[in-house]
Amino acid sequence: MTPTKNAPRQMMRKLHEIMASAIAAEERLNKVVQLVSSNMMAEVCSAYFIRDDNILELFATQGLKDEAVHNTRLKVGEGLVGLIASSATSLNLGDAQNHPKFAFRPETGEEIYKSLMGVPILRSGKVVGVLVVQNKISRQYSDEEVEGLQTVAMVLAELVLSGELLQQGQNGTTEDRVAVSRFEGMVFAEGLAEGVVVMHEPKVEIIQHLSEEYDYQLSRLDAGFENLLKQIDEIMSAEDVIHHGEHREILDVYILFARDKGWRTKIENAIESGLTAEAAVEKIQIENRSKMLNTEDPYLRERLSDLDDLANRLIRHLMGAVGTAASKRLPDNAVVVAQNMGPAELLDYDREKLKAVILQEGSPTSHVAIVARALGIPMVGQLGAGLLDIDEGVQVLVHGLDGEVYISAPPEILQSYRDAIVARTKLLAHYDDMRDKPAITKDGVEIELVINGGLAMDIDAMHRTGAHGVGLFRTEFQFMISETLPRIHPQAAFYKSIIDAAAGEPVTFRTLDIGGDKEVSFLKREKEVNPALGWRAIRIALDRPGLLRYQLRALITAAAGTTLNVMFPMITTVDEFKQAKAILEKELERHKKNNRPMPCEIKVGTMLEVPSLVWQLDELLPLVDFISVGSNDLMQFFFACDRENPRLSNRYDTLSEPALKMFKHIADKCRHYDVPLTLCGEVGSKTIGALAIIALGFRRLSIAPAAIGPVKMMIRSLDLAQLESVFGQWSSRSDHNIREELIAFAKANKVRI
Ligand code: PEP
Ligand code: MG
Repeated sequence: MTPTKNAPRQMMRKLHEIMASAIAAEERLNKVVQLVSSNMMAEVCSAYFIRDDNILELFATQGLKDEAVHNTRLKVGEGLVGLIASSATSLNLGDAQNHPKFAFRPETGEEIYKSLMGVPILRSGKVVGVLVVQNKISRQYSDEEVEGLQTVAMVLAELVLSGELLQQGQNGTTEDRVAVSRFEGMVFAEGLAEGVVVMHEPKVEIIQHLSEEYDYQLSRLDAGFENLLKQIDEIMSAEDVIHHGEHREILDVYILFARDKGWRTKIENAIESGLTAEAAVEKIQIENRSKMLNTEDPYLRERLSDLDDLANRLIRHLMGAVGTAASKRLPDNAVVVAQNMGPAELLDYDREKLKAVILQEGSPTSHVAIVARALGIPMVGQLGAGLLDIDEGVQVLVHGLDGEVYISAPPEILQSYRDAIVARTKLLAHYDDMRDKPAITKDGVEIELVINGGLAMDIDAMHRTGAHGVGLFRTEFQFMISETLPRIHPQAAFYKSIIDAAAGEPVTFRTLDIGGDKEVSFLKREKEVNPALGWRAIRIALDRPGLLRYQLRALITAAAGTTLNVMFPMITTVDEFKQAKAILEKELERHKKNNRPMPCEIKVGTMLEVPSLVWQLDELLPLVDFISVGSNDLMQFFFACDRENPRLSNRYDTLSEPALKMFKHIADKCRHYDVPLTLCGEVGSKTIGALAIIALGFRRLSIAPAAIGPVKMMIRSLDLAQLESVFGQWSSRSDHNIREELIAFAKANKVRI
């Protein structure tokens, strides 16, 4: 046995003895702080626990003045101890007193201690206390010491779980459930639902943290890993996973993690220091979570959250509490509540019974949100603290259109939700009925409706809605979920699967639009002051032509024997288009020279999303096969207004005179040069926006799949000539937007907006 293994083992053995002894909880706590203090050669070791009203109270100390016990109290967030509790992360400070958060408490006598290290005491992921050590000299505690203190903190959580230290009702236990009835969050996947709360993760509490039966715990870990891999295999062989490439990729990442030697070794080391298998997994999970909280890299966060999901699964296997609520009998109208969820876990649920998912955390770009959208399950996230305190079985309303969630809603709200759900269900059924009907106005003008997509599942949505093609396929998504640059063959295979699934309907692939807010992990970029105006999209592609060449090669291969529609993003000058097109032509030549099967037709166009290009249309239009207006970016640059900034979202209106003038100019020019024109920005996805855009002369709209039904319904109820006869008068007025006029027109003429 190595000495490094021995030292923590001795401390763990003593800890075990103390925790197992028949003395009162507070007495045990005193012994633990004494043990830590002597073992870590710290003059002070103190334990704080959170009382009901979010107050941290000193429960035990070795080194601080005795009279401070139960007298020193801090709010969560106050002082360094409060900071550890509010951030749920460790602090390791050589000069604690000069930290801006340091709060001096005279009764403790702590003014003589320079250095401080503290860790949160966590129970089921919630902070229930803080454990701190302090030294007189200024010193940096080693990583091993931080880990050691974290282990002790984990074991101390047992005192809270047993209810011996704090009575029930204190610090987040059963009786202090927050009586919050309304939460506000962010819509991750649209839809409305009423149901009953089902907690995604049955609360598994680790009851026993310490064990000296190292071999037995290691064998339990082996069995746990084996079962975990088996479970992932089962999910992977599920029908819908086989058919959807994205799910597979995500699960492949899970398998990689589950087989990761580094992760396993860390857990084994924790067992060898004296923890049970489940406590060892939790210990590494806590470290991982603190990394997760401290990283700003969205990709890394996503991976760490995958690992967190996996650790939860492993703990449940080890504790015989296998499965989330997905493996239990669900009520017919389950609304699943979770802190966060992995995509694989979402796929475990019975789709018939799962009505919605609400998350305390999460992000709209996470994999689970993407899967929810593809499956049509309403999902609201970022609902904040308190969500996990709601009771299982209570009634819940999920407004996945405006991001509201009501728990045990009062009767008036319940009724208005029910009305909204009934109306929406009827409307959705009506859209389904219209699937095969043409998008043609009452006076016979046909409007082509196609979808915006970026996932294999979007093609299913195209068929389901009766749209006739994909006007914008955002290829960057495949790159965003990949850790390395996707190679040509998988890229080509993916594009071909999209073309094949579209079954003859045209798909317009947009080359990589990365940069700005769309990060990819394989291209490290410097932080930019104005990323939206920075090195992005075609600018990266022309500076790093290898990336574009590879992608074009994959697209040409995928479109063999059919039409390749390709367009470039963020073109700002005609010259940029020429350069991009020249790269495409070179790739086509190369392909031909190598006797590879060629596409039978190639159409090359550009996005129009930078205002400068609007004033180069006379030079540009003779060179392109089509134009697609990206109104999201075009408006952002036109009004100098960040499209991501919620404060500005209602400030400038696309339906106001300057913007309408520009759209009309574009439509007129395209008609003059006989160049097919599509609008693919969000403005076309709202019926009122589509109404204006059609009146301005656009005849092809590429919109979100969910917008096909409403926009088609609007078109089929419109007399376009009638609208055109009045539209010119409104749109030339510079004093306001024309929303009101459009709404009044629609009302008067029964246009369904
Ligand atoms: C746009 O800018 O309008 C557009 C469709 O592209 P994206 O939203 O992907 O930037
Ligand atoms: Mg854009």
